[in-house]
Amino acid sequence: MNPPKSLVLILGDQLDLKGAALKGFNLKTDEVIMIESIPEAEYVWSHKAKIALFLSAMRHFAQNLTELHYPLSYIQDSPLSIVETLREKMIQEGVTHLICVEPGEWRLKQQIEALAKELSLKLDMREDDHFYCSHQEFTEWVADKKELRLEYFYRLMRKRHHILVDSEGNPESGQWNYDQDNRKPYPKKGPGIIEAPVLFEPDHITKEVLAFVNATYPKHPGSLDHFQWPVTRSQALEALDYFVEYRLRNFGVYEDAMWTDTPFGWHSILSSSLNLKLLNPREVIAAVLEAWKKYSLDLSTVEGFIRQILGWREFVRGMYYLDMPKMAQDNYYNHQRSLPQWYWTGQTNMACMKDAIGQTLQYGYAHHIQRLMVTGNFALLAEILPSEVCDWYLAIYVDAIEWVELPNTAGMALFANGGRFTSKPYIASGAYIKRMSNYCNACKYKPDVRFGESACPVTTLYWNFLIKHRSQFESSPRTKLMTANLKRISDEDQQLIVDHAQYVLNHLNDL
Ligand code: FAD
Ligand code: SF4
Repeated sequence: MNPPKSLVLILGDQLDLKGAALKGFNLKTDEVIMIESIPEAEYVWSHKAKIALFLSAMRHFAQNLTELHYPLSYIQDSPLSIVETLREKMIQEGVTHLICVEPGEWRLKQQIEALAKELSLKLDMREDDHFYCSHQEFTEWVADKKELRLEYFYRLMRKRHHILVDSEGNPESGQWNYDQDNRKPYPKKGPGIIEAPVLFEPDHITKEVLAFVNATYPKHPGSLDHFQWPVTRSQALEALDYFVEYRLRNFGVYEDAMWTDTPFGWHSILSSSLNLKLLNPREVIAAVLEAWKKYSLDLSTVEGFIRQILGWREFVRGMYYLDMPKMAQDNYYNHQRSLPQWYWTGQTNMACMKDAIGQTLQYGYAHHIQRLMVTGNFALLAEILPSEVCDWYLAIYVDAIEWVELPNTAGMALFANGGRFTSKPYIASGAYIKRMSNYCNACKYKPDVRFGESACPVTTLYWNFLIKHRSQFESSPRTKLMTANLKRISDEDQQLIVDHAQYVLNHLNDL
C-alpha cells in the first residue's frame, strides 16, 4: 500500500470537523492521525477528569471521522510523547507531508517544528481559524499601543465583527461596558434556586475511558465520580442551548458571586467545549444575541458574557502567542515559595480555599472569581513561585490549555509579567471574600482581623504585601490609591502584621 500523501495531525483540543486541519483533505490520498499519549497526561500532574475529558472527546471525534469515511490512524495508549509517536509513524510509513493546526501550547509547537526540520518534512502548520482574531490582526493592534488593555481591544472586536454596535460603530445603548452592574454578591440568604447546568451521563465510550483513567492514573488528583462533561459536539450544542435558555439571564449580575456548595453559580460551563473546539465562539455569541431578543434579557448580562468570549478569550490568546516563551518564565516579584500541599487536597482550615479547591477536585471546575480572587489571590500574596502555580492551574482544570491558562495565571492572577496587560495586581483582603461570598461565616479565621491567632491569612498577607511594596505602589499613579488605607494603620500594628505574615509564610502548609 502506498503511504498517505499527507498526514493530518489532529490534537485533543482541535476536535472540529470544519477546522483548518481538514480543509482540502483528500479522502483518497491523505490520512488523519490522532494520538493518545500516556506521558502527555503526566507532564503536569493532571486531574483525572481533565485526562478523561480529552480522551473521551477524542474517541468520540474519531468515531465521527470513521463514520464519515476519513482514513484514520488512531493510536491509543502510546508510551511515547505525541511528537515521538508521530516521528515513529512518519519514519515507518515514509510520509513526508505533515499538516496540522498550530497547537495551543508553545512546547508542542516547537517540538513539531523541530521534528519537521529533523525529518525534512514538508510542514503545513495552519493558523487556528476557530478564533475571531488572527495573529496578524493582534500584532497590528499591538504595534501602536503604549499600554495593552483588554477594553480597547474588545471595542475593536465589537466594531470589526458588528457585535452590539450600531451601523456607525457606536455601542448598543451608548455604553461599552456594564461591569459595574455585574459585581453583585448573592442575597444574604443565599443564591436561591439556580437552574442546574445540563449534565451528560457517560455512554459506553466514556465509561471505558473512566475505567482506563482510574486504572492508569490512580494517584492523580481529583475524582471521576461527577464526570458529566459534554464530550461530543451535539452535547456541547445542547449545553449551549440550555445555558442561553435557563442560565444566561442571571449570569451577569452574579458573575463574581461565590457561595459554599454552589460550584457553578449562573456560569455557562462552556469553556471546556469551546477549548476542545466542540463549539465555535461565533455560534456561542449568535445564540446569546438571539436569546437576548427572544427572552428580553438585560443588556448588562449579554454584554458581560460577550466580553468574556469576544474580549478576554481572544485577548489572552493574542498575548500568549505574542509573549511566549518569556511569559512562562516571568517572575516580576521574584517569588520562590512552594505551593502549599493542600492545593492538591483541599485540606485546609481556610473555608474559601477549601471550598474552591474542593469543588475543583470534584469537578475540575471553578469559576473565574474563585480562580482569580481565591486561589490566585492567595498564591500571589503567599509569594508562590509562578511556574508552580501555573502548573497547578494547567493540571487541575478541565478547560486548561496553555494558551488560555498561562496568561490568566501568570499575567492576571500573579502579575508575573509586571503588568504587561493589567494596570495593577489583582489583590484583595479577606474583606472582599467576605463581601462576595458566605465563606467567612464558617471559617476558623476572621476576615477583619489582621494579625494574631484568629487573623485571616488572606488579610494578613494582603496588608503585608502592601507594606512590602508600598513605595513601588506609591510611585505610580495607577497603583497609588492601593496603599491609601495603610495610613489608617499605626506603625505598631503594621509591624505586628509584618511579623505575623512572616509566621504565616513560614507555615503555609499548616493553614
Ligand atoms: P463563564 O464565566 O460562563 O464565561 C464564558 C466564557 O468566557 C468561558 O467559557 C470562557 O471561554 C470565556 N472566558 C471567561 N473569562 C475568560 C478569561 N479570563 N480568559 C479567557 N476566556 C475567558 N479559562 C480557560 O478556558 N482555561 C483555563 O485554563 C483558564 N485558566 C484560568 C486561570 C486563572 C488563574 C484565571 C483567573 C482564569 C482562568 N480562565 C481559564 C478563565 C476563566 O476562569 C474560565 O474561562 C471560566 O471560569 C470557565 O468557566 P465558564 O465556562 O463557566 O465561564
Ligand atoms: Fe477565607 Fe479569610 Fe474568609 Fe476564612 S476568613 S474564608 S480564610 S477570607
